[in-house]
Amino acid sequence: MQKIKMNVPLVEMDGDEMTRIIWQKIKEILLEPYIELKTEYYDLGLSKRDETDDQITVDAANAIKKYGVGVKCATITPNAQRVEEYKLKQMWKSPNGTIRAILDGTVFRAPIIVDSIKPSVRTWKKPITIARHAYGDVYKDVEYRVEGPGKAELVFTSANGEVTKQTLHDFKGSGVMLGMHNLDKSIESFARACFNYALDQRQDLWFATKDTISKKYDHNFKDIFQEVYDKEYKEKFEDAKIEYFYTLIDDAVARIIRSEGGMIWACKNYDGDVMSDMVATAFGSLAMMTSVLVSPDGNFEYEAAHGTVTRHYYKHLKGEETSTNSMATIFAWTGALKKRGELDGIKELVAFAEKLEKASMQTIENGIMTKDLAQLSEVENKKIVNTIDFLKEVRNTLETM
Ligand code: NAP
Ligand code: MG
Repeated sequence: MQKIKMNVPLVEMDGDEMTRIIWQKIKEILLEPYIELKTEYYDLGLSKRDETDDQITVDAANAIKKYGVGVKCATITPNAQRVEEYKLKQMWKSPNGTIRAILDGTVFRAPIIVDSIKPSVRTWKKPITIARHAYGDVYKDVEYRVEGPGKAELVFTSANGEVTKQTLHDFKGSGVMLGMHNLDKSIESFARACFNYALDQRQDLWFATKDTISKKYDHNFKDIFQEVYDKEYKEKFEDAKIEYFYTLIDDAVARIIRSEGGMIWACKNYDGDVMSDMVATAFGSLAMMTSVLVSPDGNFEYEAAHGTVTRHYYKHLKGEETSTNSMATIFAWTGALKKRGELDGIKELVAFAEKLEKASMQTIENGIMTKDLAQLSEVENKKIVNTIDFLKEVRNTLETM
């Protein structure tokens, strides 16, 4: 069989620990036998980031800007213990944060759904994708503990010196307060990323805030989404036969629970933080959750939502057998290859990526899975396999297809 050829390289970002091992094996067992893989390789493993003073992460992000599509392995975000463990020059920032800042992107998280693993919410039949705004609000707030009586004010001094003042509260005793902000530009970018992704996926887009209570702050989010939609996306949505739907956040939560799924749910920063954990847990397993960063100018970075699975890696280092689930990492690759194929007009590449996704899901439906899925799956006669054997089993399924 002739291998599938690629024209434009995929930006490949290697990572750390257990996922770094899986990364190599996915390429070896599932990709390289079928594709003449063309990638521009960036090693975002912690040692390399330290060696290059994290320049490698910046270079990788710029490469995604240049080529349009990247695929990333999970990476360690260093803390004090990691600085010690890896003898780091300093506590480097989260690579995902660095890449997101350069691409100005929004992260979309969606579960991989197989029939034999039922979501906790009975009505859910299709994936629900959460898009979380990653700037501002309570994550960039200023907080103050009020110890006794006094007046709290919201003061804005414009660039030309004009001052406006509003009373926040006349404190008669102790209490707390906070100030937070957001930027029209950031909200616009978020809106565009969401509308673009909805078109890309041909799925409805839902957005919700508390604009009835927060008549300026949250209302601003609602207005910007509506403006961007009316000006730039309305016709495209109608052509694609998909819908943009705005409602109140409490109404959205109730409707989501009653729904079949199948929509993209755009959330403000805090709502997204909370709801993505709820949706992920209700769908089953972190190991089945994929993630894609989409920039407002249309660059894509695919990855698994989980981390480097440290506990399994330490077992692996001790020579013990591991049963780490590679599904989300496989889907990061297939997502990126599909996108590359679409952009470059390589139908075989798109078809192969889709087939590999089907083979991975079919393997689990056939009862062959890693340990994490065993207690969730309703298949009878399960066969629990180790990390590498799962990939080999997917290869076998793929061969029969
Ligand atoms: P984690 O790697 O996601 O793992 C947490 C636990 O979830 C694991 O110990 C395991 O549970 C289970 N799990 C996650 N993925 C799994 C998989 N593919 N197969 C089977 N089980 C899986 O999170 P963490 O332990 O909190 O973080 C480890 C490192 O990852 C940290 O250094 C962190 O900075 C980094 N991290 C990176 C990213 C990223 O690059 N996007 C995201 C999050 C965390 P059991 O141990 O019970 O089997
Ligand atoms: Mg959270």
